[in-house]
Parts: sequence; structure tokens; C-alpha cells
Amino acid sequence: MNYVVYAIPFFLLAILLELAFGLAKRRNTYRLNDSVSSLLLGTLSQARRFVTLGVGGYIYYLFTQHFSLPLMDASHWFTWVLAMVVYDFCYYWLHRMGHERSILWAAHVAHHQSEDYNLSTALRQTSTGFLLGWVFFIPMYVLGVPAEVVISVGSLNLIYQFWVHTEHIPKLGWYEWFFVTPSNHRVHHAQNDRYMDRNYGGLFILWDRLFGTFQEELDEEPVVFGIRGPLKSFNPLKALTHIYSDMLRDSWRTAHWRDKVKVWFARTGWRPEDVSVLYPRTKANLDRFQRYDPQVPRLVSLYAFYQLLALSAVLAYLQFNDLSYREGVAGWAILLATAATTAMWLEARSVARLMKWDLLRLGAILLLLVWPVGGVLEQGRLLAFAVYALVSFVFVGLIVHEPGARNPAPAS
Ligand SMILES: [Zn+2]
Ligand SMILES: [Zn+2]
Repeated sequence: MNYVVYAIPFFLLAILLELAFGLAKRRNTYRLNDSVSSLLLGTLSQARRFVTLGVGGYIYYLFTQHFSLPLMDASHWFTWVLAMVVYDFCYYWLHRMGHERSILWAAHVAHHQSEDYNLSTALRQTSTGFLLGWVFFIPMYVLGVPAEVVISVGSLNLIYQFWVHTEHIPKLGWYEWFFVTPSNHRVHHAQNDRYMDRNYGGLFILWDRLFGTFQEELDEEPVVFGIRGPLKSFNPLKALTHIYSDMLRDSWRTAHWRDKVKVWFARTGWRPEDVSVLYPRTKANLDRFQRYDPQVPRLVSLYAFYQLLALSAVLAYLQFNDLSYREGVAGWAILLATAATTAMWLEARSVARLMKWDLLRLGAILLLLVWPVGGVLEQGRLLAFAVYALVSFVFVGLIVHEPGARNPAPAS
């Protein structure tokens, strides 16, 4: 069973509690723009399966049919304990290669772009991990771990990782030795040279100690969160594709055929020599590091938050209703378009242009609402859309009339 869906309300409650705790202690670790951007990516990640369906399930089926030991007994506790440990071992290598190889980093990078570190960062997840991630779990299929056990321990592993995304919990004594904790996972999210490419475990940190990738969090080296080539955007489309497009560009530009292929399989950061000379990339200076933080009027932030709530409602609707494939794809497209425009509002762009994008998006949503059911209008959905669109119009109307909203401060 995939427990993640049921954990979502508790995740959101925990985010509110962490926010309140931070405010009370005068050590708030949240910025609305960064958190909304993370949660938009989390929403898209959850909705991805409506488009790709059961790719992973089909691969599992092929393996267990042809290359697997007899299926283990799902009712025996030993199966679960073994699956828990083997899953985390496979996860360690997926995660490590996810950082060390460009093609896998392209998928995993989405989890690391946030320049804050809080529980919303935990929900910042990729939508393209399904493409290659399954390769690393083949040992589980070959061992004959039943499908429901693989899915259950996978979702429990992900849920475990939620709580470690916080700055408020210090080191935890002996526990640090065996398990992934807030402290050792903070190191994993750092862009400091000293901390780079360390602490890959999901549940057990023992793998890192065993394979030489462990690094302790040090008092003299405060963590700077984020990635070395900063995204400087809240746009989920860009977040999910920027490394793929970097690789595509490098592969296109290089004159050498070998390098055109090597770009895709090389170590993360490797670039063809001719391309890196002609198109150098500069790394941010961490001593003078400034987080991407375009300033927008409070009403725009509220509008973005409203959009996030609407997206959560759409996701819940998709998850708890038995919908056709076309309806699922339409729902995902609505989420993607809305997430992308919401991010644009937070990037302090021209209000006149944003209004046009929003109108275009609302028109497209209306078409998508009609499309899945072959032209027959579904009244409940249309009514919900009408209320949603009306509130959106009120928001945009108020924003346009707010002094200073038309010419927002440029992005830093
Ligand atoms: Zn990572
Ligand atoms: Zn993380």
C-alpha cells in the first residue's frame, strides 16, 4: 500500500507546526515563495502517475515472471524486515548515482533547489525519477519481494525522510550513528564544498559510513542550502527540466561525436572541453551567497497561496475518484499549467503579462474540463471551476488596483 497519500494531511499539519514554532522562537525558516514552489513540485510529483500509469508495476511484473526467486511470504515479519533493509540499500545507490551521474541528477535535482531547509523542502520531489529509478530496485524484484511489500516499504522509507528536513532539531547522540537524522541530512542538502556529495542514506546512515560517503555537520561550517548552479526561478517546469536542457545544449554544441554521447553518462558537472571554453558557467560565491528572493506585494503572495490550495483540492479529487485515463491526464495538465503560472506570479513579472497568461490558462482549463467526457459538461466540476475562477478574478482585480503592484521589485 502506498501510505504517502494518507500521510499528506499530517505533512501539512507538521509544516504549520514547524512554521509556528519557528515564529515563536524568532527563528523562522520559511519563505512563502520558496515553500509554495516546493509544494507545487510535490503536487506535480504525486500527480505524475496519472500520466505514466504503472510503468514501474509492469517492469516488476516482467522481472517476477522471468528472473525471480519464488515470491516471499508477505504475511511473515521477516519479509518486511528484509525488504526494509534491502530497499534502503538500493535507495542508497540510486541516491548516490542520482548525485554522481548527470542523467540521474537531472531527475533528482528538483529535491535540492530550495535554498531554505524546512519540512516543505521534503515534499519538493521530482516528476521524472520513474524513468530510470526502477533499475536500482531490480535486486528486490529478483529476491522475490512481493509487489505490495515493495510499494509499502518504499512509501514508508519516503515518509521517514520527511521529518529530517528541519533546522530546528539538533544532533541526536547515538542515533546519529545508525540512522538518517536532521543533522546529517542538512549536510546532504548543502552546497558547501566540504559537504558536497555526502550522506545519501534514506533510513540508515550506516551505508554512508560503510561506503565512505559520510560527513558530520560541523559547527565551524554553517550549511548553505541549495545547488551550485542556482535555479533562480520558482517555475516547476524549469525545475524539472533544466539539467536535461543543459545536457541537450552541451551535446548539440560540442564538435566531437564521442562527447555528444558522453554528456549523458558522464559524472555530474563534466562538460565537453570545447563547450566549456566557449560557454563557461560560473559558480556562485558562497561567501556572498544571496538566496533567490524576488519581492512581491502581499496580495500576490496570498494569490499564490490560494492557487496552491486550489491545486491541492484538484490533486485530492484526482486521487480519491475513480477517473478515466483522459481525465487523469487532463487533471495533470491543469495542475502543471496552474503551477507554472503561480510560480510566475511569485517571480515578480509584469502584472499585465501575467494577467494574459492567467486568462489563457483559465480558458485552457475550461477546454480540458470539457475534453475528457467527449463534450458533455460535468456540472459539479464546472460549478467548482466557476467559483474558483471568480475568486481568481477578484484577486487579480485587487492586485491591479494595489499601488506598486504593477511595477514590482526586480528579482535579485
Ligand atoms: Zn539528494
Ligand atoms: Zn532531502
